[in-house]
Amino acid sequence: MSKRTIRDSCGTCGSTDISLNSILGQNFKFKDYKTGVLITKSQGVELVQCNSCGEHFFQRKHKDSQKLDEAIKASIQDQWNKYLSKILAERGIRQKELADKIGMSQEQISRLKKGREVPSFKSFLVLKILASCPGALTAIEKEYNHK
Ligand SMILES: [Zn+2]
Repeated sequence: MSKRTIRDSCGTCGSTDISLNSILGQNFKFKDYKTGVLITKSQGVELVQCNSCGEHFFQRKHKDSQKLDEAIKASIQDQWNKYLSKILAERGIRQKELADKIGMSQEQISRLKKGREVPSFKSFLVLKILASCPGALTAIEKEYNHK
């Protein structure tokens, strides 16, 4: 890997406090993800960043954009799978049952789980809510039973 040249000042705020930082634990904008994506799987990616304003500087020759994109997708998959495992374990249900309850196909859940497809922000939120709020799935079940 070729050595990085770190710029001497930030183009946004003018600070000279610039370094190569790990993206782990940082939040990045991604497609329709309104809240951004928290990096939980960094895959060792580091980006040149201004430590004063937080601005990132992408270097094309280091394929920074592509590496970040892959780390974001891996982080979404990582979090989505944790939510899925938590829901299935806590409710004692199988993937197929959950799929039926939330209007997804078992095949789709399987593709998302394996990282073959990136969940939409809505699909991500549904699992996040179900995993963080134990009463949410019960509320959905009740809704179905009334129909
Ligand atoms: Zn700056």
